[in-house]
Amino acid sequence: MSVFSHTEFSEHQQVSFFSDRESGLKAIVAIHNTNRGPALGGCRMWPYASDEEALRDVLRLSKGMTYKSALANLNLGGGKSVIIGDPRKDKSEKLLRAMGRFLNQLGGAYIAAEDSGTGVDDLRVMGQETDYVAGVNDRIGVDGLVKNGDPSPSTAYGTFMGVRAAVKHQLGRSDLEGLKVAVQGVGNVGYRLAEHLHQSGAKLYVNDIHQAQVDRAVAELGATAVSAKEIVGLDVDVFAPCALGAVINDNSIGQLKAKVVAGAANNQLSEERHGELLKQKGVLYAPDFVINAGGIIDIGLERDGAKPADIQRQLEEIGDTLSEIFIRADRGGLSTSVIANQIAEERFAHNR
Ligand code: NAD
Repeated sequence: MSVFSHTEFSEHQQVSFFSDRESGLKAIVAIHNTNRGPALGGCRMWPYASDEEALRDVLRLSKGMTYKSALANLNLGGGKSVIIGDPRKDKSEKLLRAMGRFLNQLGGAYIAAEDSGTGVDDLRVMGQETDYVAGVNDRIGVDGLVKNGDPSPSTAYGTFMGVRAAVKHQLGRSDLEGLKVAVQGVGNVGYRLAEHLHQSGAKLYVNDIHQAQVDRAVAELGATAVSAKEIVGLDVDVFAPCALGAVINDNSIGQLKAKVVAGAANNQLSEERHGELLKQKGVLYAPDFVINAGGIIDIGLERDGAKPADIQRQLEEIGDTLSEIFIRADRGGLSTSVIANQIAEERFAHNR
């Protein structure tokens, strides 16, 4: 298994492999870049079919975190860790503690947060061995409620700021009164985004595979329930993907009537070229790794002891960064995702 010649290798600073016989832990930590600060990123536990698959994931995801944190104006670099194993069968206190001890060996160059297959409670167990975990403290969130590390309210608020910036740029309007928004997925983030939009007077159309979530949005936010087939091609102003990835593809771009795509889901573009196709169709796309950075802002600033008001201010900067991206994309005739990558690279190119 090669690392330096791996297709996903991209000048990563450090890739560390850990194993612990007693607990069965096998983990890889990839630190992509620490020019802006320590590399903060999720610790994923997944039953990878091979070590190669785990390496591919950790290389790709750690690089993505460098871009995300730079675009979020955080003094953080990009990193990620993967634990090879089934979280339902292989996770144990011993294994998590062993992971915590390994994190100590990295001396704070990488800080772990929750991810697929790990939760706040798991990070707290790691935290019994190390200080290099984040998003583990109970505190007051941006919505004024006590939260247990779950960054969804911040992600939703940041996404809302991003929708506003995109609507302003594309439709030339600062208010959202009567704006039609289709929200795909009304879970932790999507529902809260829908609440913000509703409070601003937007008219909501929602779809979710969990009927109870849809019913709640209809009852509490006056949303209109639509089918999974309809949601992408609805005659609305904004399509907000908040469920799954790869929703922007050859098929869906043909159906889209919305002039703005702005939502929290990760990896919305099925392929990079779909960003360019959206542009050609006259649809403004808010790159997902910019608009959904509220979670990393929340977790990153919490570690520094920031107050909710400081976090809120930085979440609002998501709108400013997106506006800069939109303007530069128009000027340069390039897609918004290409410009977002350029801005990130400018921001993390040099040591701070
Ligand atoms: P969640 O699981 O709470 O919500 C997702 C919702 O989408 C659920 O209600 C689910 O039933 C629904 N859903 C799943 N498949 C669907 C489908 N095919 N059609 C319609 N609805 C479907 O997750 P979340 O935390 O709200 O995250 C939503 C998205 O935002 C994910 O892509 C996630 O990676 C991304 N994201 C979340 C955060 C965060 O802070 N939670 C941060 C960054 C990015």
